[in-house]
Amino acid sequence: MANQAGPVCRLCRREGAKLYLKGAKCVTNCTFDKRSGLLPGQHGLARRRKASDYGIQLRAKQKARRIYGVLETQFRHYFERAEGAEGVTGTVLLQQLERRLDNVVYRLGLASSRREARQLVSHRHFKVNGRALNIASAQLRPGDVVEVRERSRKMLVLENAQSLVSGRSVPEWLTLDAGALKGTVARLPERHEMEQQIEEQLIVEYYSR
Ligand code: SF4
Repeated sequence: MANQAGPVCRLCRREGAKLYLKGAKCVTNCTFDKRSGLLPGQHGLARRRKASDYGIQLRAKQKARRIYGVLETQFRHYFERAEGAEGVTGTVLLQQLERRLDNVVYRLGLASSRREARQLVSHRHFKVNGRALNIASAQLRPGDVVEVRERSRKMLVLENAQSLVSGRSVPEWLTLDAGALKGTVARLPERHEMEQQIEEQLIVEYYSR
């Protein structure tokens, strides 16, 4: 499973924002809140300095990558595909990130974080359109149905999903049958339904240098 190594809370401090990478802990016991957004390291705040345009674009790209847990090569592929597609490049890029199977599992409330969703997917706990699928990066389309496999429903972490789905609002581009732990991609997400803290225009500028 491709993943970003290292302590995840450092990533939030590096980006100067809460990226919500650890699920419930991000609300109840957040290191970023405790350290007031210091950069990683003992004297983080003192190391902040004025960033160049390139630095700002780079950070915007890194932040998006870290939020969705995507490695550099794959992220670049998403950008190249978005660039060649119809529509606004930045929006198409974000739509590809949102349509990943791990993200859809997270958005449906079947996992507390994208990281957890990625792990559950890789352990074959989900079916897509009736078939087990363990590829976290699989791109879902309108009409695709995601559900927890029968044999996985009793797992503690997936039992927790039952309470998660009842407490989390599901975006309108997805529909959820909470009792069946099953969701459907109703349509493509619109910009206001995707991550608000991502500045996709800066990402486009980064790759267009
Ligand atoms: Fe980021 Fe969550 Fe860690 Fe807070 S607890 S620093 S939001 S990963």
